[in-house]
Amino acid sequence: MSTPNPQQRGVQFDELLSFEISKEGRSSASLPVTTSSKKIPSQLKRTQPARLPQLSELEAIRHFTRLSQWNFSIDTNFYPLGSCTMKYNPRINEEVARYTGFSHVHPLQPVSTIQGCLQLMFELEKYLAEIAGLDAVTLQPAAGAHGELTGVLVMRAFLKAQGNPRKKILVPDSAHGTNPATCSMAEYDVVQLRTGPDGRVPASAVAKAMSDDVAGLMMTNPNTLGLFEKEIKEICDIVHSKGGLVYGDGANMNALLGQARPGDLGIDMIHYNLHKTFTTPHGGGGPGSGPLAVKKHLEKFLPIPRVIQKSDGTYDLEYNRADSIGRVRAFQGNFAMMVRAYTYIREMGPEGLKKATELAVLNANYIKAQLKDYYHLPFGEGTMHEVIFSDKKFKETHVTTLDIAKRLMDYGFHSPTIYFPLVVFGALMMEPTETESKEELDRYCAAMIEIAKEATTNPDLVKKAPHNTRMRRLDEAKAARELKLRYQF
Ligand SMILES: *Cc1c(COP(=O)(O)O)cnc(C)c1O
Repeated sequence: MSTPNPQQRGVQFDELLSFEISKEGRSSASLPVTTSSKKIPSQLKRTQPARLPQLSELEAIRHFTRLSQWNFSIDTNFYPLGSCTMKYNPRINEEVARYTGFSHVHPLQPVSTIQGCLQLMFELEKYLAEIAGLDAVTLQPAAGAHGELTGVLVMRAFLKAQGNPRKKILVPDSAHGTNPATCSMAEYDVVQLRTGPDGRVPASAVAKAMSDDVAGLMMTNPNTLGLFEKEIKEICDIVHSKGGLVYGDGANMNALLGQARPGDLGIDMIHYNLHKTFTTPHGGGGPGSGPLAVKKHLEKFLPIPRVIQKSDGTYDLEYNRADSIGRVRAFQGNFAMMVRAYTYIREMGPEGLKKATELAVLNANYIKAQLKDYYHLPFGEGTMHEVIFSDKKFKETHVTTLDIAKRLMDYGFHSPTIYFPLVVFGALMMEPTETESKEELDRYCAAMIEIAKEATTNPDLVKKAPHNTRMRRLDEAKAARELKLRYQF
């Protein structure tokens, strides 16, 4: 395999960080002489010069360009990080987000001057509601986990209005860690549901755990094993019959777009991760956005302000809503991400989104078919947009999931998600997304197959990996214990 490793580029510049190459008096700025008569008050002035590296413009450019090349990104290589939906971020999103009407506005401007922005938010809410089969959306939450918290606070407000907020929430053992964390943040106790032998939550388990004390259920569908929860309708009926609500974790919507709608399945609310499903930058690339979609009867609890359209067709922000849980974030949320997601939805259209999902599922199944003879596959049937393997086959040579993940870097690929979901021991969770070509998937599978062979014939090679990267295997315990969060002189 001769895939070039992006992390190798710039190796020889390791020591050339900006402070080290700083030279007294060198500068990349030529500021005009001020013509203003206003002087900075002396008490606001620095007493000592700022400790900044002194570099020429070219040196500064090289520094930042080098740093960007040391990063691994979707723009350079395949990034099958399961559950994170690391798909291509189309450049048209960036172009639209940079329109001055969107990028040169201030959240405190009078609403009459930001009508276009409000219209975009209003329409995006409508699209997201339609895609989910739900009725109302708030765009305020800044990430998936934040959308979850907003949703569970809405759940609490709804039940409180009925007389009793209740005490517990049911969460399957395959759930993302943010689900139980969200419950705790909203002051609910978590009751864990065991995954059944087919990788799904049995309705009977929900029936057994559901009581008048349970506020509801948080469920990801397809779940984090990439499997569709077949009994979802029955499960929703059980929860509703006891007066509870069903929260859908929408992080896996890349498996459902245009195919099935959570609202139609009986789910009361879901969050989206615009930075996963709707192609806004992700993983160091920008802030997230986690809109929450709800059924009609929950709308009045959504955060304020709400974007509304008045009878004369203009848009406004409405604050006066007695039942709202209040604000969950400053201003309107991460607006530039809304512009990108809106652009993506308009660019794709309903048919495009539907097709994207079909290809995402096809790609995961293609990987499954290629790798199933080489890696242990705990759940063989019903794979949707991601597939989970484990390191079980390499017990004898003691090659682990972590070793496989490190060795993949030598071949130029980002690792899959490892050791998650927790219900699969030594999990390797692969989500190719729809934006990869067959050739790229073939290269990835060839590397994975090569590593599986190495794990039996030359286990040391895998256990000592990575060999070709800028940094070798890191001492994670040392890094955690002696945390360095800023540059030290
Ligand atoms: C990513 C993810 C989350 C959390 O979303 P963030 O945007 O990272 O806060 C929750 N659940 C699942 C299944 C996820 O994959």
